[in-house]
Amino acid sequence: MHSAKLEKRRMEAVLGRHGVRLSKRFGQNFLTDAGVLQRIVDAAQIEKDDFVLEIGPGMGSLTRLLSKSAARVLAIEIDERLMPVLEEELADCFNIELVQGDVMKLDLSKLISKDNEGRTIRIVANLPYYITTPILMKILEGDLNWSRITVMVQRVVAERMIAEPGSKAYGALSLSVAYRAKPEVAFFLPPEAFFPPPKVESAVVSMQRFEQPPVAVEDENLLFLLIRAAFNQRRKTLVNALYNGANLSLSKEEIENSVFEAGFTTNIRGEKLSLADFVRLADVFSN
Ligand code: SAM
Repeated sequence: MHSAKLEKRRMEAVLGRHGVRLSKRFGQNFLTDAGVLQRIVDAAQIEKDDFVLEIGPGMGSLTRLLSKSAARVLAIEIDERLMPVLEEELADCFNIELVQGDVMKLDLSKLISKDNEGRTIRIVANLPYYITTPILMKILEGDLNWSRITVMVQRVVAERMIAEPGSKAYGALSLSVAYRAKPEVAFFLPPEAFFPPPKVESAVVSMQRFEQPPVAVEDENLLFLLIRAAFNQRRKTLVNALYNGANLSLSKEEIENSVFEAGFTTNIRGEKLSLADFVRLADVFSN
Protein backbone atom coordinates (compact mmCIF):
# COMPACT_ATOMS: atom_id res chain seq x y z
CA MET A 1 0.00 0.00 0.00
CA HIS A 2 1.11 3.57 -0.69
CA SER A 3 3.03 4.99 2.31
CA ALA A 4 0.71 8.05 2.60
CA LYS A 5 -2.25 5.70 3.03
CA LEU A 6 -0.41 3.73 5.67
CA GLU A 7 0.50 6.95 7.46
CA LYS A 8 -3.14 8.10 7.37
CA ARG A 9 -4.18 4.81 9.00
CA ARG A 10 -1.47 5.14 11.61
CA MET A 11 -2.55 8.72 12.39
CA GLU A 12 -6.20 7.69 12.64
CA ALA A 13 -5.21 4.96 15.10
CA VAL A 14 -3.19 7.40 17.23
CA LEU A 15 -6.06 9.92 17.26
CA GLY A 16 -8.50 7.14 18.11
CA ARG A 17 -6.33 6.02 21.04
CA HIS A 18 -6.35 9.60 22.36
CA GLY A 19 -10.08 9.98 21.73
CA VAL A 20 -9.55 12.94 19.36
CA ARG A 21 -11.86 13.62 16.41
CA LEU A 22 -10.40 16.16 13.99
CA SER A 23 -12.14 19.52 14.08
CA LYS A 24 -13.28 21.49 11.01
CA ARG A 25 -13.51 24.56 13.20
CA PHE A 26 -9.72 24.58 13.64
CA GLY A 27 -8.97 23.83 9.97
CA GLN A 28 -7.47 20.45 10.78
CA ASN A 29 -6.46 19.02 7.41
CA PHE A 30 -3.29 17.04 7.96
CA LEU A 31 -0.56 16.01 5.55
CA THR A 32 0.31 12.34 5.34
CA ASP A 33 2.74 12.15 2.43
CA ALA A 34 6.39 12.27 3.48
CA GLY A 35 7.35 13.52 0.00
CA VAL A 36 5.02 16.53 0.27
CA LEU A 37 6.28 17.34 3.78
CA GLN A 38 9.87 17.22 2.54
CA ARG A 39 9.03 19.57 -0.35
CA ILE A 40 7.72 22.14 2.17
CA VAL A 41 10.93 21.85 4.21
CA ASP A 42 13.00 22.23 1.02
CA ALA A 43 11.03 25.33 -0.02
CA ALA A 44 11.72 26.80 3.45
CA GLN A 45 15.51 26.60 2.79
CA ILE A 46 16.26 25.87 6.43
CA GLU A 47 19.86 25.87 7.62
CA LYS A 48 21.15 24.00 10.64
CA ASP A 49 21.51 27.11 12.84
CA ASP A 50 17.99 28.39 12.13
CA PHE A 51 15.11 28.91 14.54
CA VAL A 52 11.80 27.76 13.10
CA LEU A 53 8.37 28.91 14.21
CA GLU A 54 5.69 26.46 13.15
CA ILE A 55 2.03 27.49 13.36
CA GLY A 56 -0.39 24.62 13.87
CA PRO A 57 1.75 21.46 14.23
CA GLY A 58 -1.35 19.23 14.30
CA MET A 59 0.09 15.76 14.96
CA GLY A 60 3.66 16.91 14.39
CA SER A 61 4.44 15.40 10.97
CA LEU A 62 5.99 18.61 9.63
CA THR A 63 7.41 19.51 13.06
CA ARG A 64 9.47 16.30 13.13
CA LEU A 65 11.07 17.06 9.76
CA LEU A 66 11.71 20.69 10.74
CA SER A 67 13.44 19.58 13.93
CA LYS A 68 15.87 17.52 11.86
CA SER A 69 16.87 20.50 9.68
CA ALA A 70 16.87 23.38 12.19
CA ALA A 71 18.57 24.19 15.50
CA ARG A 72 15.30 24.84 17.34
CA VAL A 73 11.59 24.63 16.58
CA LEU A 74 8.82 26.44 18.42
CA ALA A 75 5.42 25.02 17.51
CA ILE A 76 2.17 26.76 18.50
CA GLU A 77 -0.99 24.65 18.52
CA ILE A 78 -4.42 25.93 19.53
CA ASP A 79 -6.08 22.55 20.14
CA GLU A 80 -5.28 21.36 23.66
CA ARG A 81 -6.52 17.85 22.79
CA LEU A 82 -3.54 17.54 20.43
CA MET A 83 -0.91 18.37 23.07
CA PRO A 84 -0.63 14.81 24.46
CA VAL A 85 -0.58 13.49 20.88
CA LEU A 86 2.25 15.87 19.95
CA GLU A 87 4.21 15.01 23.10
CA GLU A 88 3.95 11.32 22.26
CA GLU A 89 4.67 11.68 18.53
CA LEU A 90 7.68 13.97 19.10
CA ALA A 91 9.04 12.34 22.26
CA ASP A 92 12.40 11.62 20.60
CA CYS A 93 12.92 15.20 19.27
CA PHE A 94 14.81 17.29 21.80
CA ASN A 95 14.96 20.68 20.06
CA ILE A 96 11.20 21.30 19.90
CA GLU A 97 9.20 23.52 22.23
CA LEU A 98 5.44 23.04 22.09
CA VAL A 99 3.18 25.91 23.10
CA GLN A 100 -0.57 25.54 23.44
CA GLY A 101 -2.31 28.74 22.37
CA ASP A 102 -3.89 30.86 19.68
CA VAL A 103 -1.25 32.32 17.36
CA MET A 104 -3.48 35.39 16.89
CA LYS A 105 -3.38 36.18 20.60
CA LEU A 106 0.25 35.40 21.44
CA ASP A 107 3.06 37.96 21.45
CA LEU A 108 5.32 36.12 18.99
CA SER A 109 8.35 38.42 19.34
CA LYS A 110 8.33 37.97 23.11
CA LEU A 111 7.82 34.23 22.87
CA ILE A 112 10.69 33.79 20.43
CA SER A 113 13.19 36.28 21.85
CA LYS A 114 13.46 34.34 25.12
CA ASP A 115 15.27 31.35 23.56
CA ASN A 116 16.16 32.37 20.04
CA GLU A 117 19.78 33.46 20.79
CA GLY A 118 19.80 35.75 17.75
CA ARG A 119 19.24 32.96 15.23
CA THR A 120 17.64 33.53 11.85
CA ILE A 121 13.88 33.03 12.20
CA ARG A 122 11.95 31.10 9.59
CA ILE A 123 8.22 30.60 9.75
CA VAL A 124 6.86 27.37 8.31
CA ALA A 125 3.24 26.23 8.41
CA ASN A 126 0.49 24.26 6.81
CA LEU A 127 -1.89 27.04 7.85
CA PRO A 128 -5.45 26.53 9.10
CA TYR A 129 -7.53 27.85 6.19
CA TYR A 130 -10.28 29.51 8.28
CA ILE A 131 -7.79 32.10 9.47
CA THR A 132 -4.99 32.17 6.85
CA THR A 133 -5.16 35.85 5.91
CA PRO A 134 -5.38 37.25 9.49
CA ILE A 135 -2.35 35.13 10.48
CA LEU A 136 -0.33 36.30 7.47
CA MET A 137 -1.32 39.95 8.04
CA LYS A 138 -0.34 39.72 11.71
CA ILE A 139 3.11 38.46 10.77
CA LEU A 140 3.63 40.78 7.80
CA GLU A 141 2.51 43.88 9.71
CA GLY A 142 4.16 42.89 12.99
CA ASP A 143 7.66 43.42 14.35
CA LEU A 144 8.88 39.83 14.39
CA ASN A 145 12.27 39.65 12.71
CA TRP A 146 11.70 36.66 10.38
CA SER A 147 13.80 36.05 7.27
CA ARG A 148 11.59 33.64 5.31
CA ILE A 149 7.98 32.51 5.51
CA THR A 150 6.91 29.27 3.84
CA VAL A 151 3.23 28.45 4.08
CA MET A 152 0.61 26.11 2.69
CA VAL A 153 -2.45 28.19 1.85
CA GLN A 154 -5.55 27.90 -0.33
CA ARG A 155 -4.69 28.42 -4.00
CA VAL A 156 -6.85 31.59 -4.12
CA VAL A 157 -4.88 33.05 -1.22
CA ALA A 158 -1.61 32.23 -3.01
CA GLU A 159 -2.98 34.13 -6.02
CA ARG A 160 -3.76 37.13 -3.78
CA MET A 161 -0.27 37.02 -2.31
CA ILE A 162 1.38 37.42 -5.71
CA ALA A 163 -1.27 39.64 -7.38
CA GLU A 164 -0.41 42.85 -9.27
CA PRO A 165 -2.33 46.17 -9.02
CA GLY A 166 -5.57 46.27 -11.02
CA SER A 167 -6.03 42.48 -11.06
CA LYS A 168 -9.03 40.81 -9.44
CA ALA A 169 -6.96 39.06 -6.78
CA TYR A 170 -5.11 42.28 -5.80
CA GLY A 171 -5.81 43.49 -2.26
CA ALA A 172 -4.48 44.29 1.20
CA LEU A 173 -2.65 40.95 1.42
CA SER A 174 -0.88 41.53 -1.94
CA LEU A 175 0.34 44.90 -0.69
CA SER A 176 1.52 43.69 2.73
CA VAL A 177 3.44 40.89 1.01
CA ALA A 178 4.92 43.30 -1.58
CA TYR A 179 6.08 45.62 1.22
CA ARG A 180 7.95 42.90 3.08
CA ALA A 181 9.05 40.13 0.76
CA LYS A 182 9.43 38.48 -2.60
CA PRO A 183 6.83 35.68 -2.82
CA GLU A 184 7.12 32.58 -5.00
CA VAL A 185 4.71 29.72 -5.44
CA ALA A 186 6.72 26.56 -4.78
CA PHE A 187 4.04 24.01 -5.79
CA PHE A 188 0.30 23.26 -5.88
CA LEU A 189 -1.52 20.39 -4.17
CA PRO A 190 -4.94 18.82 -4.78
CA PRO A 191 -7.40 18.29 -1.87
CA GLU A 192 -6.69 14.54 -1.81
CA ALA A 193 -3.18 15.21 -0.49
CA PHE A 194 -4.72 15.96 2.94
CA PHE A 195 -6.56 13.96 5.56
CA PRO A 196 -9.41 14.81 5.68
CA PRO A 197 -9.38 16.63 2.30
CA PRO A 198 -10.25 20.36 2.37
CA LYS A 199 -12.78 21.70 -0.17
CA VAL A 200 -10.20 23.69 -2.12
CA GLU A 201 -6.89 23.38 -3.95
CA SER A 202 -3.76 24.37 -2.05
CA ALA A 203 -0.41 25.97 -2.79
CA VAL A 204 2.86 26.42 -0.96
CA VAL A 205 4.18 29.98 -1.08
CA SER A 206 7.66 30.88 0.10
CA MET A 207 8.66 34.50 0.78
CA GLN A 208 12.17 35.80 1.26
CA ARG A 209 12.09 38.99 3.32
CA PHE A 210 13.60 42.17 1.83
CA GLU A 211 16.42 43.65 3.88
CA GLN A 212 14.66 46.99 3.44
CA PRO A 213 11.11 47.51 2.14
CA PRO A 214 11.26 48.40 -1.58
CA VAL A 215 9.70 51.82 -0.86
CA ALA A 216 10.46 53.74 2.34
CA VAL A 217 7.48 55.12 4.25
CA GLU A 218 7.45 57.58 7.14
CA ASP A 219 4.77 55.82 9.19
CA GLU A 220 4.43 52.07 8.61
CA ASN A 221 1.33 51.72 10.80
CA LEU A 222 -0.44 54.46 8.86
CA LEU A 223 0.48 52.72 5.59
CA PHE A 224 -1.10 49.44 6.76
CA LEU A 225 -4.14 51.32 8.09
CA LEU A 226 -4.77 53.05 4.75
CA ILE A 227 -4.32 49.79 2.82
CA ARG A 228 -6.77 47.94 5.06
CA ALA A 229 -9.37 50.71 4.89
CA ALA A 230 -9.05 51.01 1.09
CA PHE A 231 -9.75 47.30 0.59
CA ASN A 232 -12.33 46.83 3.33
CA GLN A 233 -14.68 48.67 1.00
CA ARG A 234 -13.04 47.96 -2.32
CA ARG A 235 -16.10 48.92 -4.41
CA LYS A 236 -16.10 52.42 -2.96
CA THR A 237 -13.79 55.22 -4.09
CA LEU A 238 -10.58 55.53 -2.12
CA VAL A 239 -11.83 58.80 -0.57
CA ASN A 240 -15.07 57.21 0.68
CA ALA A 241 -13.32 54.04 1.87
CA LEU A 242 -10.82 56.10 3.88
CA TYR A 243 -13.51 58.46 5.20
CA ASN A 244 -15.70 55.55 6.36
CA GLY A 245 -13.07 53.13 7.54
CA ALA A 246 -9.70 54.66 8.43
CA ASN A 247 -10.59 56.66 11.58
CA LEU A 248 -8.33 59.48 10.44
CA SER A 249 -10.35 62.19 12.27
CA LEU A 250 -10.40 64.19 9.04
CA SER A 251 -13.31 65.66 7.08
CA LYS A 252 -14.14 64.23 3.69
CA GLU A 253 -12.82 67.38 2.08
CA GLU A 254 -9.49 67.07 3.90
CA ILE A 255 -9.19 63.46 2.71
CA GLU A 256 -10.02 64.53 -0.85
CA ASN A 257 -7.34 67.20 -0.69
CA SER A 258 -4.72 64.69 0.52
CA VAL A 259 -5.65 62.15 -2.17
CA PHE A 260 -5.34 64.92 -4.76
CA GLU A 261 -2.03 66.13 -3.27
CA ALA A 262 -0.66 62.58 -3.53
CA GLY A 263 -1.32 62.79 -7.27
CA PHE A 264 -4.64 60.93 -7.70
CA THR A 265 -8.06 61.93 -8.94
CA THR A 266 -10.59 62.01 -6.12
CA ASN A 267 -12.72 59.27 -7.70
CA ILE A 268 -9.91 56.70 -7.91
CA ARG A 269 -10.34 53.30 -6.22
CA GLY A 270 -7.75 51.71 -3.96
CA GLU A 271 -7.38 48.69 -6.22
CA LYS A 272 -5.65 50.87 -8.85
CA LEU A 273 -2.89 51.96 -6.46
CA SER A 274 0.51 50.28 -6.33
CA LEU A 275 2.60 49.94 -3.18
CA ALA A 276 4.56 53.08 -4.14
CA ASP A 277 1.22 54.93 -4.57
CA PHE A 278 0.03 53.90 -1.08
CA VAL A 279 3.38 54.98 0.37
CA ARG A 280 3.02 58.40 -1.29
CA LEU A 281 -0.49 58.69 0.11
CA ALA A 282 0.62 57.65 3.62
CA ASP A 283 3.43 60.23 3.54
CA VAL A 284 0.97 62.99 2.57
CA PHE A 285 -1.32 61.97 5.45
CA SER A 286 1.57 61.80 7.95
CA ASN A 287 2.52 65.34 7.05
N1 SAM B 1 1.00 20.86 10.56
C1 SAM B 1 0.01 19.81 10.46
C2 SAM B 1 0.12 19.14 9.11
O1 SAM B 1 0.69 19.74 8.20
O2 SAM B 1 -0.34 18.02 8.96
C3 SAM B 1 -1.40 20.35 10.69
C4 SAM B 1 -1.86 21.47 9.78
S1 SAM B 1 -3.58 21.86 9.93
C5 SAM B 1 -3.89 22.48 8.32
C6 SAM B 1 -3.64 23.36 10.86
C7 SAM B 1 -3.31 23.25 12.34
O3 SAM B 1 -3.39 24.54 12.94
C8 SAM B 1 -4.25 22.37 13.12
O4 SAM B 1 -3.52 21.50 13.95
C9 SAM B 1 -5.07 23.35 13.99
O5 SAM B 1 -5.53 22.81 15.21
C10 SAM B 1 -4.05 24.46 14.20
N2 SAM B 1 -4.64 25.79 14.47
C11 SAM B 1 -5.84 26.25 14.04
N3 SAM B 1 -6.04 27.52 14.45
C12 SAM B 1 -4.92 27.87 15.16
C13 SAM B 1 -4.55 29.07 15.85
N4 SAM B 1 -5.34 30.14 15.88
N5 SAM B 1 -3.35 29.08 16.50
C14 SAM B 1 -2.55 27.98 16.47
N6 SAM B 1 -2.87 26.82 15.83
C15 SAM B 1 -4.03 26.77 15.17
